[in-house]
Amino acid sequence: MKKVVKFGGSSLASAEQFGKVGAIIRADKDRRYVVPSAPGKRDSKDTKVTDMLYGAYALAEKGKDFDKELEAIKARYQEIIDGLRLELSLDKEFEKVKADFKAKAGSDYAASRGEYLNGIIMADYLGYDFIDAAEVIFFDDNGNFMPDKTNEVLRDRLKESERAVIPGFYGAKLDGTIKTFSRGGSDITGSIVAKAAKVDVYENWTDVSGFLVADPRVIDNPKGIDTITYRELRELSYMGASVLHEDAIFPVRKEGIPINIRNTNAPKDKGTWIVEDTCQRSKYTITGIAGKKGFCAINIEKDGMNSEVGFGRKVLQAFEQNGISFEHVPSGIDTMTVFVHQSEFEEKEQNVLATIHKLVQPDFIELEADLALIAVVGRGMRQTRGTAGRIFSALAHANVNVKMIDQGSSELNIIIGVKNDDFEEAIRAIYRIFVEIQL
Ligand code: ASP
Repeated sequence: MKKVVKFGGSSLASAEQFGKVGAIIRADKDRRYVVPSAPGKRDSKDTKVTDMLYGAYALAEKGKDFDKELEAIKARYQEIIDGLRLELSLDKEFEKVKADFKAKAGSDYAASRGEYLNGIIMADYLGYDFIDAAEVIFFDDNGNFMPDKTNEVLRDRLKESERAVIPGFYGAKLDGTIKTFSRGGSDITGSIVAKAAKVDVYENWTDVSGFLVADPRVIDNPKGIDTITYRELRELSYMGASVLHEDAIFPVRKEGIPINIRNTNAPKDKGTWIVEDTCQRSKYTITGIAGKKGFCAINIEKDGMNSEVGFGRKVLQAFEQNGISFEHVPSGIDTMTVFVHQSEFEEKEQNVLATIHKLVQPDFIELEADLALIAVVGRGMRQTRGTAGRIFSALAHANVNVKMIDQGSSELNIIIGVKNDDFEEAIRAIYRIFVEIQL
């Protein structure tokens, strides 16, 4: 067996955390490839090294002095080196970082040093090879990730290393300029390494024991999710459940490599398995609930619109022309509603309305703001009758007015639109009926 293990920032925030990570890696000889993040927060008031680097570089870019800021970053690493009693010195590395900052090497370069330096420490601590991600992960001139070239080069490089550390979050363009993924991107690196090394499992170690059925800020102590499919995860992540970077599933998804989310602070917990598909029934009819506030509905009415060929296309064209993407489009005989992100829509609303008027001459347009969308997701819904019925009776009992319902054809999710103010109560009602009462 071969495993890739990725550790997030909070798992590597201090020497103590490094100690836990070392014990986890040494406990299983299959854990051969390690992808570290930069040191994260040691407590809620702390600052992530990545953010410290962005801050220091912002000063450098303006030609201001950044010595103090860089020293503070160095101190974070030194604390780890000293705590682990390593004989490593990063003096030379920091001299280079300083010179590169002065030469304005770019904010991606600056941020990437967080993972790069942590990777050097990790490799030294474990006695593993160090592979600079800039030599094996590639982006094209426009900054788009190059999966094929990366896979080829990385695969060949990994064949030479029995055990190695590959820092997360960055790679390089073909001319050597450092480029990062978006924030949280070490998850993507882990997935890329998992694919190239053809491992059996990609373990993603963080500070929670996997995915929860609902957001703990809304539900006290929600239950955990044992197994979730890639498709379910996409639905939940899109609606705000954030444990793993959204793009992290793509490299492994077609390779049949499962991802196991684990907790560095509770290594015995089994965590959540993310798989292509499973015969395992989820514990409850639903796998998870997630949602977001801040949507706006545009209701368009026109008598006989259902027989007017091209009506829907023209309405959506009005949004497209104004650069706004839509979320959902429920429709009736004489009505069509378009759900959009309020923040995106607000500044362009009058332009959109004018374009709709011009393109389809509606009888009436009405806007409704401050709406929330809630996704109830679960592969179990396909085999179970009455899921929608149960959701709506739960919402009715909780006095929540349902503004919109959308069940995708995959029968994997039901999306419900409610007022922002009803958001929390709606989630609690759905959680209660499926998880607590288990109807
Ligand atoms: N350190 C980077 C960030 O804070 C990348 C990561 O942790 O995945 O976003």
